[in-house]
Amino acid sequence: MSKGKLLVISGPSGVGKGTIVMELLKRRPQASLSISCTTRPPRECEVDGVNYFFLSWEKFGQMIEEGGFLEYSKHFDNYYGTPASFVEEKLKSGDVILEIDVDGALQVKKVKPEAVLVMIAPPDRQTLVSRLCGRHTEPEDVIAKRVERADYELGKSPLYDYVIINDVLDEAVGEVEAILEKEN
Ligand code: ADP
Ligand code: 5GP
Repeated sequence: MSKGKLLVISGPSGVGKGTIVMELLKRRPQASLSISCTTRPPRECEVDGVNYFFLSWEKFGQMIEEGGFLEYSKHFDNYYGTPASFVEEKLKSGDVILEIDVDGALQVKKVKPEAVLVMIAPPDRQTLVSRLCGRHTEPEDVIAKRVERADYELGKSPLYDYVIINDVLDEAVGEVEAILEKEN
């Protein structure tokens, strides 16, 4: 039996999803963050098994064939997926947060209608671009691709249960916390 809620957080790259989730986990230590699998190479500061499980294309394909993903999607030339067994195990002990793209989130909602979908939106486009540039983790051409995709992602907001604007970080985190309280 599941004890926790499945909270799915999406939003354009650079909007602040990771920052919000980290803050939320500090406030709710009983919740856990699902660790996704990806074929993307690790960034300098990323650790395998902590930020992602970094898999080869071959291993990722094998997991797809075995039905090992709750959802997966191709994104910026790489695959990303949520390992199903990991999530089911974590749900037994508390809330589980998925930080995944809109295509994956909508797949989750289909197989788990009880999942709560939260879209994080920027106050405006310029703020999104400044945050992406300020993070200094992607080259300019990759940033341009991510900004281009933002409209697609935000366009799916009406399919989400909640939309939160990440302007003042503390307020945005408080709003996600309030959603979890309410849904529990
Ligand atoms: P995402 O996970 O959505 O790609 P990040 O969490 O990496 O985004 O945030 C992108 C950048 O924006 C980071 O440098 C982060 O510190 C900054 N950031 C996040 N939220 C805010 C906020 N409310 N105000 C100002 N900067 C923010
Ligand atoms: P990044 O490469 O910046 O870590 O992530 C790129 C995008 O992949 C983000 O929009 C992030 O939400 C999404 N993502 C991360 N993990 C998963 C996952 O397991 N499934 C899906 N569908 N998207 C994911």
